Amino acid sequence: MSALTVLRRYAAKTDLSTIPDSVLFTHTDTSLTLFDLFPKSNTFHFLMMPRITPSLPEEHTRDLRTLLKWDKEKARKVIEGLARDARSVQDMIKEEMKKRFGFEWPIFTGFHAVPSMEHLHLHIIASDLFSDRMKHKKHYNSFHPKRGFFLHLEDVLSWFDATPSYYKTMAKLPKSQYEPLLKEDLICWRCNESFKTIPKLKEHLRAEWEKDAAKVKVKELKRQREDEEYVDIDKRSVKRSTPAAPEEPTP
Ligand SMILES: [Zn+2]
Ligand SMILES: [Zn+2]
Repeated sequence: MSALTVLRRYAAKTDLSTIPDSVLFTHTDTSLTLFDLFPKSNTFHFLMMPRITPSLPEEHTRDLRTLLKWDKEKARKVIEGLARDARSVQDMIKEEMKKRFGFEWPIFTGFHAVPSMEHLHLHIIASDLFSDRMKHKKHYNSFHPKRGFFLHLEDVLSWFDATPSYYKTMAKLPKSQYEPLLKEDLICWRCNESFKTIPKLKEHLRAEWEKDAAKVKVKELKRQREDEEYVDIDKRSVKRSTPAAPEEPTP
């Protein structure tokens, strides 16, 4: 299978048992959610795509551009369906975050303006963008939430309710306008500090994330200590209330 078209092959499947568990995370009648093969988050990175059905033929789901060129109301239904399914995947990610790390951090959900693989897909990615697979400037800039290349699902949904001319303009998604964004400077999406190299940026992103994780741990420790102190106080009060040893019976 070509790496470029592998998503479309999966999206066209009616029998999902032929997709390995290591590939398929979850599904609904209208969408599949796969583990990203080259995760750019250190923790959670999924691709969600609409399933190809007779009412949603593949010619309209090559990418966001072809979908938006199609009938506007049909396109809106596809995006709204993805949004609904994305919410449940986001909830699953948040659960895992709390279970495994004790805290939640932002999740970005959106499309790449110029995708690198065929078949429309939504990225659902936790914002700890310092995985081993995060190797190039274009990788990072494609997920930077304010760079403009990453089109947030909420923003795309809002285009449908904007004026028809705005919709038409946004729906064009010209490569020439978006691709240069990938070459811009490396800037931390949280604090806007700029970095010369990817390793330096990743070091910084990791430190920021670890600081958040540590804050939660400190809070947890404090809570534990308070619990222990409370138990101590309890014990003391138990001791205090224990009646003194019975007096020696007086002869
Ligand atoms: Zn992609
Ligand atoms: Zn920063």
